[in-house]
Amino acid sequence: MSFNRETVLSVHHWNDTLFSFTTTRDPSLRFKTGQFVMIGLEVNGKPLMRAYSVVSANYEDHLEFYSIKVQDGPLTSKLQHLKVGDTLLVSRKPTGSLIMDNLKAGKNLYLLSTGTGLAPFMSVVRDPEFYEAFDKIILTHGVRWNSELGYFNYLTETLPNNEFFGEQVKDKLIYYPTVTRDEFSTQGRLTDKIRDGKLFEDINLPALNPETDRVMICGSPSMLSELVDILEERGFSEGTSHAPGEYVIERAFVEK
Ligand SMILES: Cc1cc2nc3c(=O)[nH]c(=O)nc-3n(C[C@H](O)[C@H](O)[C@H](O)COP(=O)(O)OP(=O)(O)OC[C@H]3O[C@@H](n4cnc5c(N)ncnc54)[C@H](O)[C@@H]3O)c2cc1C
Repeated sequence: MSFNRETVLSVHHWNDTLFSFTTTRDPSLRFKTGQFVMIGLEVNGKPLMRAYSVVSANYEDHLEFYSIKVQDGPLTSKLQHLKVGDTLLVSRKPTGSLIMDNLKAGKNLYLLSTGTGLAPFMSVVRDPEFYEAFDKIILTHGVRWNSELGYFNYLTETLPNNEFFGEQVKDKLIYYPTVTRDEFSTQGRLTDKIRDGKLFEDINLPALNPETDRVMICGSPSMLSELVDILEERGFSEGTSHAPGEYVIERAFVEK
């Protein structure tokens, strides 16, 4: 695998377990909104690489990533100490299934995430093409603690005031964070809120319907399998590049 060597431009720590960082972007790197790349560090003279969704928009001249800090994780135990000016290795072949091409045209787009599964959807909600394609975009983010709601202020304050597409964001984007272990305005698990209909009541939209709704899911392996069951029960089928469907999924990480 060949890599570009990018330079770290900024680092932001959200809390003890999550951080974001930006790097330079080689002008030859093209990616579709929602895709991931392999990123990493050179450790003992060898590249140590992991899959990461691109958080930044595909038209921006930098790259941004949103990362977990696994204390004994081979990569993130080191990556969490990144500093401005450090070198990050970035693969040259973005890939992934959370892309608009894999979905049939639809009315409402649900972006369902837990934890760092938010990452690819940060790129989606910054892509004007998605606002052109859908009437409503519903971004859900399930976390345990309030401090894990990365990008909360960006989503509630900065994005709706974007000078180019802020009006579309105000009109179309519904951000629905949920927290399971802290006090918060919306508490509980999203899967429960889909099953009992509370989500749709809260956002004032009809219950999930494969005729009108499209779904992208990114989260833990257990969250994915639970949501896939819910969707399949309701008649949704998974889309691929050969046969676009009503939903697409990507693991936010692999359980080892
Ligand atoms: C398609 C894909 C996209 C990914 N995108 C991202 C991303 O945007 N941001 C990101 O932080 N990670 C992402 N990951 C996970 C990432 O590839 C690494 O697993 C993570 O950086 C930890 O690396 P590590 O070497 O420190 O530990 P690893 O040995 O890779 O992981 C150790 C253990 O930590 C846990 N773990 C790993 N990653 C996470 C996570 N993100 N959230 C919760 N628990 C985790 C798992 O239990 C795992 O078994 C993605 C994985 C895949 C497959």
